[in-house]
Amino acid sequence: MKKINLLIILCCITMAVSCQNNNTSTTNSTFKKPTAMESNKVIKNEEEWKKVLSSEQYNVLRLKGTEAPFTGKYNMHSEKGKYTCGACGYELFTSDMKFDSHCGWPSFDKEIGDGSRIKKIKDMTHGMVRTEIVCARCEGHLGHIFDDGPTATGQRYCVNSLSIEFLPTDTTKKK
Ligand SMILES: [Zn+2]
Repeated sequence: MKKINLLIILCCITMAVSCQNNNTSTTNSTFKKPTAMESNKVIKNEEEWKKVLSSEQYNVLRLKGTEAPFTGKYNMHSEKGKYTCGACGYELFTSDMKFDSHCGWPSFDKEIGDGSRIKKIKDMTHGMVRTEIVCARCEGHLGHIFDDGPTATGQRYCVNSLSIEFLPTDTTKKK
């Protein structure tokens, strides 16, 4: 009988300790501050997007369409500057990250920042398993990412020209 009592007491102590641990972790996650990216989201309804995007841009950015290869204005583009999201202006790539992949779409080997500007989503459409890339700020469709890149990163961000805008480096400031 004494043994059983001792067991019960031991159980109670263990439960009390684990409860305390749970409490601390819950408190921590409840008070987690939203990151800059989360609080910075651009949310519009489809009617609002139609007003600010051309029909070609809307088809790619919102309806996840793909422009025909070798037709995009940035495919063979090699000026120095930055590429932003075509829908919300979020800076996504620099010209130093761009390389000629000969695949017909602008290709980049990495993105600006720590990987939080572009969201990666598993895409099972068209009988393929691919990874879709979307702007993390407005959810605009950019293209797909592949791990067959020829540079050190091994990555190939394959992006529609219609999903991005180019901002040339301001050369007047450099002397
Ligand atoms: Zn965006």
